[in-house]
Amino acid sequence: MFIDTHCHLEMYAFDKDRDEVMKRAADSDITYIINAGSDIEGNVKGLQLSGKNPNIYSAVGIHPHDAKALDESLYKELKKWIKQPKVVAVGEIGLDYYYLHSPKGVQIEAFRKQIALAKDKGLPIIVHSREAKNDTLQVLREEIVDTPGVLHCFSGDKEMAKKAMELGFYISIAGTVTFKNAGELRETTKYIPDEFLLIETDAPYLSPVPVRGKRNEPAFLKHTARAVAKIRGIRISDLARITTLNAKKLFRIGEITEKGEIAYKIRDSLYLNITNKCTNKCGFCIRSRTNYVKGHNLRLEREPSALQIIKAVKNPKAYKEVVFCGIGEPMLRLDVVKKVAGWVKDHGGKVRINTNGQGNLIHKRNILPELKGIVDSFSISLDAEDEKKYEKICKPTIKGAFNGIISFIKEAEKVVPEVKITVVKIPEIDMDKCKAIAKDLGVELKVRKFNVVG
Ligand code: SF4
Ligand SMILES: [Zn+2]
Repeated sequence: MFIDTHCHLEMYAFDKDRDEVMKRAADSDITYIINAGSDIEGNVKGLQLSGKNPNIYSAVGIHPHDAKALDESLYKELKKWIKQPKVVAVGEIGLDYYYLHSPKGVQIEAFRKQIALAKDKGLPIIVHSREAKNDTLQVLREEIVDTPGVLHCFSGDKEMAKKAMELGFYISIAGTVTFKNAGELRETTKYIPDEFLLIETDAPYLSPVPVRGKRNEPAFLKHTARAVAKIRGIRISDLARITTLNAKKLFRIGEITEKGEIAYKIRDSLYLNITNKCTNKCGFCIRSRTNYVKGHNLRLEREPSALQIIKAVKNPKAYKEVVFCGIGEPMLRLDVVKKVAGWVKDHGGKVRINTNGQGNLIHKRNILPELKGIVDSFSISLDAEDEKKYEKICKPTIKGAFNGIISFIKEAEKVVPEVKITVVKIPEIDMDKCKAIAKDLGVELKVRKFNVVG
């Protein structure tokens, strides 16, 4: 399922074949479309379209190109349009200093006035910003209180994306990311955390490669999605899940599952979420910020039994590996891990455990011999170069955690074929010292990006 978070289906470019365009969108798994308004006629036609089509929603707003048209009577119209039931955002609004069809001061005023409308209605805004980074950020900083939105068809740099995300804004990537000269945009696309990422077509404009030059349409979103997934090292199905969830949240459309998932697929592996408890309170842990990993809700209402987990796995052979992970520490439920891992192995699967390495401390004995033959690999978070740093970063509730982890790694190597340690890349951690520890222990060290989970 995909959501095209920005297009202009009402434009005359679609007058001849709008129905076929929408049919192709549906055939390409585009469930919802956000149609953005830009001028008077476009807003009116867009509202007619969303009024007739259950899967089209409207954003209403006056584009910066037309800012000079936003007089009192048009402002009144806007206020009327906003009240229509299918309106989910105010946009596209913003600043365009590339074309300067309206003077800068006029654009800024129209931008501010329309943000005020959005705030009044509690709607998100869809922001167009071209060659106007500083002013855009300044207006957003000054005007936004609790109705953020999205920077659509993002063309800024990493710094702009970072600052916008700090204000709670999503970043929407369009077909421009597939263009040959879009190296910087591809870098930014890689850097945006999952929970801020959206995709769009901006149709009829900006067709992605390999259809560049043709009229764009929602069905072409798949080309952009494929490119963005590749850049981020995930499958297109992962990207669809992540961006659909974000769009549903931002525009408050469709249904969002409230139920925590026990087994969730990312790339070619199946991950198991068997507890939300942990013996640490790491400063970088995503649990404090979100319930979601790669678009999967992992907040469990109750811990699943071994049988429930096995039922959720179904066929272990269908995956590259089955990974005990989730947003908690799996070794807290050792008995369940042993039952499920044994079953996975019996049914031809591969088992990995992602752990904070405190299993022996939790159970006050060496549990590793109990895992022999049922676990193929361990990925153990080290996340510090010494006890003092570990205490500071990971805030363990168990005393002597760091040394306990080191001895867990040594014991793991004796019984499990593959042991890796991981370290999150944050400035507080001395990476060279961590590398030396890994070398000493004879294990591979994997550096994980901050804010990238799953
Ligand atoms: S060990 Fe993992 S799950 Fe536990 S707090 Fe740290 S990052 Fe979160
Ligand atoms: Zn647009």
